[in-house]
Amino acid sequence: MSLEALLTEIRACRACADQLAHEPRPVVRVSPRTRLLICGQAPGRRVHESGLPFDDPSGDRLRAWMGVDRDTFYDHPAIGVAAMAFCFPGTDPKGGDYPPPARCAALWRPRLLAELPQVELTLLVGRPAQRWELGGDRAGGSMTETVRAWRAFLPDVLVLPHPSWRNTAWLRKNPWFEAEIAPYLRQRVSLILGA
Ligand code: SF4
Repeated sequence: MSLEALLTEIRACRACADQLAHEPRPVVRVSPRTRLLICGQAPGRRVHESGLPFDDPSGDRLRAWMGVDRDTFYDHPAIGVAAMAFCFPGTDPKGGDYPPPARCAALWRPRLLAELPQVELTLLVGRPAQRWELGGDRAGGSMTETVRAWRAFLPDVLVLPHPSWRNTAWLRKNPWFEAEIAPYLRQRVSLILGA
C-alpha cells in the first residue's frame, strides 16, 4: 500500500467515534520524504478545528525552537507530524485534554512508520509521548529528568518539553533547555532541510 492510500484510510478512521464527544478528525501530516517526525500527544481543540497540526501558540513556540517559519513547517516535505493519537480526545472537567485514545497507535503507527523510511530524527514532544515511546525505564522519573538526559537518546530521538504555555514556568526554571537543546535542534533541522 502506498503512503497516500494509507493516509486516506487514516483520515477516514472513526474507530474512536463511540468514545469521543465529537466526530473524530484525524490530523496527520507526513510525506514519503519526511525526515524529521514530530510526535506529540494528540491534537488540541484548535488543531481539531483547523485540521493543521500545531496550528496554535504551542506550534509557534515549537517553530521558534526549530528555527523555521510557518511556511517551512507546513510545506517542507522533510517535516512531518504524527502524534501518539491523531484525533482530539476532548476536554476533561478540569480544563485539560483527555489522554490520547490508546488504540490509535496500535491501529496505525507501525503501518505509518513502515511508509516513512527516511525518518532520521523523531521529536518526542512532551511527557506522554516520551513515556509512551521510550517506555517507563528509559523515560525516567520526570520530564525534567528525561529532557536533561537528552543526549542519551540521540541521534534518532530528541526529547522536548511540550511547547504549551503550561510549561512557560518550567522553561524559566530550566534555562539550560533554551541554551543547549534548542540550538542543537535548530542545527539538526537546518541540516535536514538543507540536505
Ligand atoms: S484517534 Fe486514531 S484510532 Fe481513534 S478515530 Fe482517530 S484516527 Fe482512528
